[in-house]
Amino acid sequence: MKVVLAKTAGFCMGVKRAVQIALETAQGKEEIFTCGPLIHNPQAVETLRAKGVIPLPDEVDPDHGILLIRAHGMPADRIARLRARGLTIVDATCPHVVSSQKRIATCSAEGIPVIIVGDREHPEILSLQSFAAGPCHILSSLAEAQAFPAVERAMVIAQTTFNAADYETIGAELRRKIPHCQVFQSICKATSRRQEEVHRLARTCDAVVVVGGRNSANTRRLAEIAAASGKPTFHVETAAELPLDNFAAFTTVGVTAGASTPDWITEEVIDCLTSLHPVPDSD
Ligand code: SF4
Repeated sequence: MKVVLAKTAGFCMGVKRAVQIALETAQGKEEIFTCGPLIHNPQAVETLRAKGVIPLPDEVDPDHGILLIRAHGMPADRIARLRARGLTIVDATCPHVVSSQKRIATCSAEGIPVIIVGDREHPEILSLQSFAAGPCHILSSLAEAQAFPAVERAMVIAQTTFNAADYETIGAELRRKIPHCQVFQSICKATSRRQEEVHRLARTCDAVVVVGGRNSANTRRLAEIAAASGKPTFHVETAAELPLDNFAAFTTVGVTAGASTPDWITEEVIDCLTSLHPVPDSD
């Protein structure tokens, strides 16, 4: 069986940077905590834990040591509260998320209502929301955009990992009903390139394997896009989860991985698939 690996598979810039900051901070003597996992990949989080980066449940505040802000960011008021308590703060928020935070803060300070398009409970959304000084609405779907009451003006911004095609549709609907509506392009390129490539993989392969945390929004989206193409799609966290019997019928399998999936996990998946049905020698 031929395995085609997506060029964009694996850690994005923001995740690489956050992991590097975590590892550098872990060289010191103080304990390091994150509120929620540093990145949405259970295997990578366990590797970091062994090096001293301890994930607390999302809602639990550390009471000593260093707070490492994860790539998704954290609510501004919560950071201020923890800083006031004397915790050292090390900020690993992805620069793309910081840029959205600043845009929201600026527009909101000018009195413009904010509409964020994304997953209501996602940590990035909770963080972005906290930068709005005035009205701030979260919309997750076209149906919610259609039901949104007519207002005079608004700024619209998306979660950095939102589905690019869905954001375009939702943005068009909001532009149609809001006379003064500014829609910002905030989906990061790491996300849109991965989404475009998984489309291509699904078109050219018999099946697609998406590797990454089930708690990772960008990984789940890659799997949704592949599945929507009608090709058999398998979302696995590790090679051990591959339903090997299902692969006998496929000649070419595309493999991609979420932005928070370490390369070693993807390599294990590829090794497993290639050993399953070796491609015969051409001579
Ligand atoms: S997916 Fe994009 S926005 Fe999110 S951490 Fe990676 S680079 Fe940053």
